[in-house]
Amino acid sequence: MKDEIVCQGCGVQIQSEDQEKPGYVPNSATTNENIVCKRCFRLKHYNEVQDVSFTDDDFLTMIGQIRNTDALIVNIVDIFDFNGSFINSLQRLTGKNPIILVGNKVDLLPKSTNKSKLKQWMKKSAKDLGLTVQEVYLISAVKGQGMDELESAIEDYRNGKDVYVVGSTNVGKSTFINRLIDKSTGINDAITTSYFPGTTLGFIDIPLDDTSSLYDTPGVINRHQMVHYMSDQDLKIITPNKEIKPRVYQLNEKQTLYFGGLARLDFERGSRQSFVCYFSNQLSIHRTKLENAENLYKDHLGELLSPPNSETMEKLPALKSQSFRLKENKTDIVFPGLGWVTIPEGNTTVTAHSPEGVSISIRPSLI
Ligand code: GDP
Repeated sequence: MKDEIVCQGCGVQIQSEDQEKPGYVPNSATTNENIVCKRCFRLKHYNEVQDVSFTDDDFLTMIGQIRNTDALIVNIVDIFDFNGSFINSLQRLTGKNPIILVGNKVDLLPKSTNKSKLKQWMKKSAKDLGLTVQEVYLISAVKGQGMDELESAIEDYRNGKDVYVVGSTNVGKSTFINRLIDKSTGINDAITTSYFPGTTLGFIDIPLDDTSSLYDTPGVINRHQMVHYMSDQDLKIITPNKEIKPRVYQLNEKQTLYFGGLARLDFERGSRQSFVCYFSNQLSIHRTKLENAENLYKDHLGELLSPPNSETMEKLPALKSQSFRLKENKTDIVFPGLGWVTIPEGNTTVTAHSPEGVSISIRPSLI
């Protein structure tokens, strides 16, 4: 059997047949030593990211190589999109290696957020989804918050071993890696960061010392992530770009809130109270009577209720609903990829609507 040749940059199998597919190298270059695929070559030499059509399975197979190593796994998630950015099979893909969970984008949280509650919730949610993590850290890759603490934790946990940084697209993995490289080498923007998801590919090797490295792995695409349904324009609206300002709505039962036209919350039963909404400051919130909610959606989706714009509407799945009977005081209804609503009083029934596949969850309030 012919030996399989793999790219030294990302580990993908080398091929010379199709330029559009992963692992392409011109025929003339396949005899070189230390072959890197065209994509890694361009990334390395021109700081350019080339879009090639990796399937979800290709990504997962690449990540699955980690199972056969002895390393520390650093899994980055977006705290505004915990469920959306969670990699379901991560425990299986990484084998027995220890995992640190890192929640990124902490700079966007209102100051009053209880960070230790957030960490507890992340650890428990990971566990419920089948992932046991050693510890949870919160960082802002953009602002640098929490980075020193995380870096020293990585040093302790790795104990001289390699480190693999894994995450789904858009969690801020490139920003994080760039910050690390910048700090250790003084090189700015070594890896291209993008506003839009799905562009980081390749196991990029960053030496930690003489015998070990930190590897950046390809961003895993989760189909149920809200970002994949959004037009570029809408993505800018739903993505918070600075600290979120809570918006408070005094509601009576039988009232509804629309978050653009992307999600909806019906106050079915309970006493009059203040619903506190934590979403991107640019996302408009619209209040209406529950009895009018369906018609409003039918008549005004994409206008009064936007985003979605027409481009997003073509991709966005229909809204699905789920009802919650809240017993405890102070509960958050979490809309992955968008934000959350804190409901102060127990004995309240709400129905939450989100695009099919984007699964809503509840947690004890973080504030
Ligand atoms: P990747 O796909 O995981 O590599 O993500 P990127 O590093 O390209 O970041 C995705 C988006 O999230 C970009 O718009 C970044 O500016 C933004 N981002 C990354 N880290 C942070 C952070 O710590 N805070 C905030 N507010 N935005 C971030």
